This record gives sequence, structure tokens and C-alpha cells, in this order.
Amino acid sequence: MLRSMRYGEADRILHLYTPNRGRVSAIAKGVRRARSRFGGRLEPFFRLSIELHEGRGELLTVTGAQTVDGHARLRGDARALDAAARACDAVGRLFETSEPHPGVFNLLCRKLSLLDEQPAAATRSAALAFRLKLLLAAGLAPQLGGCATCGEREHLVGFSGAAGGVVCGACEAASFPLAPDAYAFMTEALGRPLTEAPAAGDAALGQVERAISATLEHHAHLRLMPALGRSG
Ligand SMILES: [Zn+2]
Repeated sequence: MLRSMRYGEADRILHLYTPNRGRVSAIAKGVRRARSRFGGRLEPFFRLSIELHEGRGELLTVTGAQTVDGHARLRGDARALDAAARACDAVGRLFETSEPHPGVFNLLCRKLSLLDEQPAAATRSAALAFRLKLLLAAGLAPQLGGCATCGEREHLVGFSGAAGGVVCGACEAASFPLAPDAYAFMTEALGRPLTEAPAAGDAALGQVERAISATLEHHAHLRLMPALGRSG
């Protein structure tokens, strides 16, 4: 579950990310009553097996729910909880349609399990590696193999959201600088599993986050919240 919002007297509207039908919204009736049949099973960041009833409206109704993983450790750690909320927000906004992306579902499941196994892994590098993988799944992976404007493979010194990737010294007009360690972080994060996400210094991570933001703004007209909260 990505998110849960109070609705009416005792209900909640849930935003769910599913393997087969993308992002869906569903109403859980009576869930806020003390003796709800859903108990405490419908909480954000839970991995659930859910039965949904499709009525006439757009909103589905939750008719049954089983907890697959409640991620108890994650939920007991403020930073991990914040990282989970940001990861879920990014998924919900980048993949907000009913088009299925089972790969994105699996990626989010892995991200939440990782935060649960090791709440201290809620780092900015882990958050950015996750976002890069989301870009890849959305077909928005920045071009890193050569200059996104002219194809030059050497002297890649900047990043341009408009061009969609790294650019060379001759094409850097509308770009901002991208240091070699930021470039290395991006290629490694895209090439490795989440569990082996690379690390980098603050300056490099700042450039990586800017590159991700510029890509999303130019190609998806989307702005995400910062990858990590201020306490990070
Ligand atoms: Zn160029």
C-alpha cells in the first residue's frame, strides 16, 4: 500500500500499487471502527494480498485483506518510514495509471524489504539508486553511454535534462556540471541490484538528484519530493 487517507466517518481510501493493474484506489469501509474485520491489516507500506470488488464507479471496494509482510522494523524507525513514504510517493506519481508494471511492483517490494531488514539503509544514495531504477522502468533512463546531443564518448562534463543525459564539453550550453563520481554513481546504480547500490559523497549525490529531477521535469513534467528528508 502506498498511502491511506481518512474518508467519511469510519472509512479509508487506499492507494495501492499492484503487479497486474498498476496503481488503483480502493475504499475500505468501516476500517477505522474498533472492531473492523480488517483489524490492523490495512496500513501504508504493508505488502498485502487484497480482494477488490469492482463496482460501477472508479473506486474499488476492499472485500478482503491478508498481510504478506507488515514490515514491522521499518515502521518502528522514523528515517526508514520517511524513506518508505518517499519511495511510495515516487512510484505513485511516476506510475499513476492502471497500466501494469510488474517490474515496478517487484522493485518497490524489494525497496520496502531492504528498509525493513536494515532501517539504517535509509540513505540518500539508496533513495537515488531506487529513483534511477524507476526512471529506467518508466523508459526515462538518462543517456549515459555518450553525449546525449552529439554522441561524443569522451569529455562528458555535464548533464542536460532537455537532451536527456550526459553531454560533452562542446554541447554543454543548457547543462549543469556532472562530476566523474556522480556519473559513476549513475551508471553503477543502474547496472546493479538495489541491494548493491553504490555510495557517493554529498556533492556527487546532489548532482545525481538534480539530474534525475531535470530528466523528470523535461520528459514527464513531474516534480518529486526530495529523495531524503532534512534529518537525513
Ligand atoms: Zn556533444
